[in-house]
Amino acid sequence: MAGKIPQSFIDDLLARVDIVEVVDAHVPLRKAGKNHKARCPFHEEKTPSFTVVRDKQFYHCFGCGANGTAISFLMEYGGLGFIDAIEELAGRCGLEVPRDASYQAQAKQYDELYELLESAAKFYQRQLRERGNNAIDYLKERGIIGEVAGDYEIGYAPPGWNNLINALGRSEAEQARLFEAGMVIRREEGGRNDGGYYDRFRDRIVFPIRDQRGRVIGFGGRALGDGAPKYLNSPETPIYHKGRELYGLYQARNKAKQPERLYVVEGYMDVIALAQHGVTNAVAASGTAVTENQLEKMFRVSPRVIFCFDGDEAGRKAAWRALEITLPHLGEGRQAHFNFMPEGDDPDSFVRKHGPEKFQSNENVVPFSDFLLDSLKAKVELSTREGRANFLDFALPYLAKMPEGGLRQLLLRDVAGIAEIETGGIDKLLQNKLPGAPARQRKPRLLMQKQNRKLIGDLISYILSKPELAASIEDTAELSDIPLAGVDFLIELITLIHSNPAINCAAILEHWRDSRYEQRLSELAPDPDALAEEAFDLDVQFLDAMEKLKANKARHSIEKITQVNPSELTGAQKARLRQWYSAPNKK
Ligand SMILES: [Zn+2]
Repeated sequence: MAGKIPQSFIDDLLARVDIVEVVDAHVPLRKAGKNHKARCPFHEEKTPSFTVVRDKQFYHCFGCGANGTAISFLMEYGGLGFIDAIEELAGRCGLEVPRDASYQAQAKQYDELYELLESAAKFYQRQLRERGNNAIDYLKERGIIGEVAGDYEIGYAPPGWNNLINALGRSEAEQARLFEAGMVIRREEGGRNDGGYYDRFRDRIVFPIRDQRGRVIGFGGRALGDGAPKYLNSPETPIYHKGRELYGLYQARNKAKQPERLYVVEGYMDVIALAQHGVTNAVAASGTAVTENQLEKMFRVSPRVIFCFDGDEAGRKAAWRALEITLPHLGEGRQAHFNFMPEGDDPDSFVRKHGPEKFQSNENVVPFSDFLLDSLKAKVELSTREGRANFLDFALPYLAKMPEGGLRQLLLRDVAGIAEIETGGIDKLLQNKLPGAPARQRKPRLLMQKQNRKLIGDLISYILSKPELAASIEDTAELSDIPLAGVDFLIELITLIHSNPAINCAAILEHWRDSRYEQRLSELAPDPDALAEEAFDLDVQFLDAMEKLKANKARHSIEKITQVNPSELTGAQKARLRQWYSAPNKK
């Protein structure tokens, strides 16, 4: 990826920032023993179990399991992307994020586009005040008054082909930039005029779309009168990617950083009409179905996402598509619901007719799981055995896509009930549908393997608590031929610390972000023993575990020797065997 941030910079950054300060700026922390605590911002709780550990530069919630580094916190709580989170931390420390030259050029180009679109937004707002009487009439008719129009910076693109060009595209370079930002369209060769450009938005109410950092990245436009198309959006540009942005999310977060729920509606006017009625937590995907990327963005900000759809056939189809992309993202406190509007209404008209209380009430809200089961049931004839088997065939692949956890378990029980089969039986059927299922059916792991897995896990978690421990292992070669899963990773970890002795836990975690080890590391980082208040002798525990690990190696070499025909044993091998069997404590 162009402009990738060097890992060494991230190490350095995480050595300078203090996660306690970073978190405290958003979620006030209280000192508790050697750590800091607060009520968890990621789940609802009465007593604080959200713990920030300064030594490790790591946070962990013992309630919901949320955890990570200062970077993760800004991503999860602040809704920032990885790069943006790093930029933000670097800004705090007065550091410049190093990038290669091509990235610098690109960043400059993007900055120019952001600036240009900001000017365009101002231009359209001014047009609304000066020339937008019919637009203002339209808004008034919809009950939109000045304050909300201001919050959402509604503007007006007047009729005519050159209004924006005349205002912001005086030079050729400026016109080219307007084109790049998607604000003007190139004239067809041989068509009207001289092959220059003309304004994309004409005689439309325009809605600036801001990204999460508040930068204008594009516009949506609604035709006044019968202009076609009714809705028009900016095209994809270097800074505007439809599938990643949510209209209204920036404004919603200005009202509440972590809204208790987010409504997903279809249009800009739905978002604004709801805001006019005090429902400021609505967002819209710009003219497309919600993508996984958008969904992930919403769940980072709020645990509850409510999709609003028309109650008709088309609305139910759209809801089913939303359900399919949502399945893998549920769990860990994340919930999804559907709010089906009565025939002929959209959220805009509904809230105007019935008011915000009725809109926000749970009257029309269908929980995700009900919608799933009802839709599946409607497909089959449940009165016959064949129909119930069909139902199972339909249902299980969907359940298999869900993360493990309470909701899946409850659904499984309900599906079993509907299909009239035992819960134990359905569990087995589900196992077969899960990714990697054949492997899971192999004979159960030996107890020994389980213990070894724990041993390696312990070692890793001790090292995460106190990276200096790894320095005491002078030579990783003696570990290299231990035939246990995870040893390779352990060696990689020790090698990293050897080359970077001052590294802290958070920086170690960041080294494996987005890798297959990320999940396991985040489970091992909040080692409860190490987080405990009582002194815990890590050094002793660590050495003890290392001894056990090496004993594994010894046992393995003995096993190898015993497989050799006794008559072919060398003198050294015989001596080794004698020593092993006479040792008092064969681990
Ligand atoms: Zn929590």
